[in-house]
Amino acid sequence: MSIKDDGQERLILDMVDRFLEKEVAPYAWQLEHDDEYPAQIVEKMKEMGLFGCLIAPEYGGLGLSTVTYAKIIEHISVVWMSVSGIINSHVIMSAAVQRNGTKEQKEAFLPRFATGELRGGIALTEPDCGTDLQAIRTVAKRDGEDYVVNGTKMWISNGIYGNCFALLVKTDPNTSPRHKGMSLLIAEKGNGFGVSRKLEKLGYKGIDSAELVFNDYRVPVDRLIGGIEGKGLQMILNGLELGRINVAARGVGVAQAAMNEAVKYSQQRKTFGKPICEHQAIQIKLGDMATRTEASRLLTMRAAEAYDRGERCDMEAGMAKLFSTESALENSMEAMRIHGGYGYSKEYLVERFYRDAPLLTIGEGTNEMQRIIIAKQLIERNRV
Ligand SMILES: Cc1cc2nc3c(=O)[nH]c(=O)nc-3n(C[C@H](O)[C@H](O)[C@H](O)COP(=O)(O)OP(=O)(O)OC[C@H]3O[C@@H](n4cnc5c(N)ncnc54)[C@H](O)[C@@H]3O)c2cc1C
Repeated sequence: MSIKDDGQERLILDMVDRFLEKEVAPYAWQLEHDDEYPAQIVEKMKEMGLFGCLIAPEYGGLGLSTVTYAKIIEHISVVWMSVSGIINSHVIMSAAVQRNGTKEQKEAFLPRFATGELRGGIALTEPDCGTDLQAIRTVAKRDGEDYVVNGTKMWISNGIYGNCFALLVKTDPNTSPRHKGMSLLIAEKGNGFGVSRKLEKLGYKGIDSAELVFNDYRVPVDRLIGGIEGKGLQMILNGLELGRINVAARGVGVAQAAMNEAVKYSQQRKTFGKPICEHQAIQIKLGDMATRTEASRLLTMRAAEAYDRGERCDMEAGMAKLFSTESALENSMEAMRIHGGYGYSKEYLVERFYRDAPLLTIGEGTNEMQRIIIAKQLIERNRV
């Protein structure tokens, strides 16, 4: 099934909304506070085919557009942002293989990614580097028909419960420029591929974030994505546009959720004889929250549409990611203020948004880097 037109998009969004209402919303608070992996939710998402949402139908995926995907991610993030992260890094891994893989790699892996039988993410960041990926130290040394991998990866989403990752390595650590020695491997868990620890976080709970250690871990050479060494960083950078659209959509979801709670609470809470929503100081906050949310949504849709048209959209994705995630941060703070003392209570939802939102400003390229990317493109597109 390939879902392209609006009617079909509506069908899938309705299905996602029903799933969120029945299977996620009632359990999210407890799972989040216990930092418990949402295993049943993941199983349900497998059944719904969400792990194959962007994989082409010929490989068993849903073949959705990026626009529909972004809407799904927004809807999920309104309810519980962590759940969107479980899909996102898996989608980026799948997209790397779909876009760059050999025919054999696509046939061997995409159907298994689509069902979620193989599920995971992207392993790029290391203890000593995240933004400067060319400084990675994980090395894959050729030995006969295998690469032997040694190194450590940090902050890897789905690291504990996932079983397959797009692993960024140096196949030639001495080459200059450094990116020419970087490659991307399809790494299934096995001997030498260990999880050294679960990382404790401020928010974004439930989803597993882990440190991974590779100790003489062997990967057959036919798992080198695209079959050519030296293209790994390029593949990852191309995939980051999609990742940034995803994070932007998550920002829209969190901004919307914070606004929803503020709109509701401000009508229930009374001070000086009237609901606080009738005080202009609160109305100004609500007005800004609504405008930020809608502007974030429009920027995200604009970037997703450009991505679907196959256009270069690092500037659009960067703007969407920057604005939406800062909006999520601001809206979560404002929602907390509107809730007064209750905003600081663990019994209300807004404290979660306040803990979840900052991550969005960091992941898939920090917002500082987004500003630099936007500025560089701005100059590039307006050369004098
Ligand atoms: C919960 C969570 C989940 C994550 N999931 C994954 C995952 O699944 N896979 C994965 O590979 N990584 C993942 N990451 C890592 C994430 O992508 C990195 O944390 C991020 O890229 C930033 O890298 P860093 O933490 O090393 O910060 P650094 O690169 O050390 O940056 C520190 C600060 O310096 C700034 N800075 C750096 N360089 C410049 C520059 N040239 N100009 C201006 N400012 C600069 C940054 O903006 C930042 O403010 C995750 C992180 C978290 C917290």
